[in-house]
Amino acid sequence: MIIVMKSDAATEQIAAVAEHLEGLGATARVSTGSVRTVIGVVGDLDGVRSVAWDVLPGVERVMSVTGPLRFVSREAQHDGTVIEVGGLRIGGGTLTVIAGPCAVEDRDQLLEAGKAVKAAGAHILRGDAYKPRTSPYAFQGLGKEGLELLAEAREVLGMPFVAEVIDPRDVGLVSSYADIVRIGSRNMANFPLLQEVGRQQKPVQLKRGFTSTIDEWLNAAEYIYNEGNHQIILVERGIRTFETAARNTLDITAVPIAQSLSHLPVFVDPSHASGKRSLVPPLTRAAVAVGADGIMVDVHPHPESALVDGSQALEPAEFSELMEDVRRLAEAVGRELA
Ligand code: PEP
Ligand code: MN
Repeated sequence: MIIVMKSDAATEQIAAVAEHLEGLGATARVSTGSVRTVIGVVGDLDGVRSVAWDVLPGVERVMSVTGPLRFVSREAQHDGTVIEVGGLRIGGGTLTVIAGPCAVEDRDQLLEAGKAVKAAGAHILRGDAYKPRTSPYAFQGLGKEGLELLAEAREVLGMPFVAEVIDPRDVGLVSSYADIVRIGSRNMANFPLLQEVGRQQKPVQLKRGFTSTIDEWLNAAEYIYNEGNHQIILVERGIRTFETAARNTLDITAVPIAQSLSHLPVFVDPSHASGKRSLVPPLTRAAVAVGADGIMVDVHPHPESALVDGSQALEPAEFSELMEDVRRLAEAVGRELA
């Protein structure tokens, strides 16, 4: 269990909560950061659970973490992780924008998309060479040829890129090309794949499984961290709920929760969360407003002929317009946009 204190909580209020916990037989691990104090509660929690901690003076909220997070929790490291990619700083108060097509289809499509997102102000290009498709008969990606096109785009545009890896046997290949490797939603609980990306050196984007709890997501990050790779970016991409109006339900609440439980940067993918172009701008604005460390948006030069996910891809002009809002909102919430 974790008790998050308010940013203006007094020292005596923090001490009172810690003493109360100790009095109930638990151990209070007080972690004081530059912004707020977080109290990790371990040991005997029997007496602790029945107390309404959130009504005590100075307490902001209480969270229960069932699995033992050794490395990715705020208790383990209070200050936010900052990841450097191609001269960019991810985390640490910045807002990183990743954009590009869902899948690499050919050189023209990738370069056209890349030039447009770069001109609009995106920092990192997205484009996948391996696609996890619902149907085995759908376009599965260009494989190695796609990675070569992405590497070419990086040279032409001067932009790092992120690409998904879906098979443990391809981790070495994908990470030899990509600046960031991504674990998609469907593979969040593919533990051998998580371990394999944990054993290589490139930063890893870890999408939340669409049927996974925040706790399961953080434990998946723990698998990567445990193998020695500490450069992990969490991505909220919508979860499956009873609601069918959008492809998924963007769990915006997960962003501040994951940020308070973990020191890892938390991004939002409004495109896969909604599956619908018209919903991408409002959800992107919500993501920036809620304090996400980054966003990842699908942009395609010709969405109507896209081989994958055309219905959620923004056209370059729409993305450029959205970036104006992103800039204004980033400033309003104190995020530094490179
Ligand atoms: C993607 O980003 O292209 C993707 C497949 O997303 P997700 O894993 O979130 O479905
Ligand atoms: Mn997609």
